[in-house]
Formats: sequence, structure tokens, C-alpha cells
Amino acid sequence: MSDEHLPGSYGGDNDKLSPASKLECKICWYVYDPSAGDDCWQIPPGTAFTQLPEHWSCPQCQGRKQDFLMIGEPHD
Ligand SMILES: [Zn+2]
Repeated sequence: MSDEHLPGSYGGDNDKLSPASKLECKICWYVYDPSAGDDCWQIPPGTAFTQLPEHWSCPQCQGRKQDFLMIGEPHD
């Protein structure tokens, strides 16, 4: 088993996310909310995490996109 990606980590796998998925920076706990977008990167509201540019990083700590954790993911 690889320990590269903890359960709940995004790890660059877009298939794990829905358009409304919120993700949390594992370093500083900044939360990216698709309904709010990201003023720092001029990301308009309604932009899914999966649609963020590849070079996007945490607005607060410059943490890598791949290091964000999935939160509040609805399960049915
Ligand atoms: Zn951060």
C-alpha cells in the first residue's frame, strides 16, 4: 500500500471531486469554496476545484493544489 496519499486527500485525482466539492488546505486550513471562488487568484464564483488552473496554489500559504483535502463531500 502506498502512503503517498492519505484517505480524503485530493492528490490530483479529479474523479474524486464533484463540481461543488469544497477542499481544505492541509497546511493552513484555508477552504476553497466553489460557490465563492478565489479573489486572490481572480477565480470567479462557480469555478469547481477541478477547473482551477494547474498552477493554482493556496492563497494563504502557497500550498500545492494536490495537497488539499476533500471536506464536506456528500455521500449517498
Ligand atoms: Zn494553505
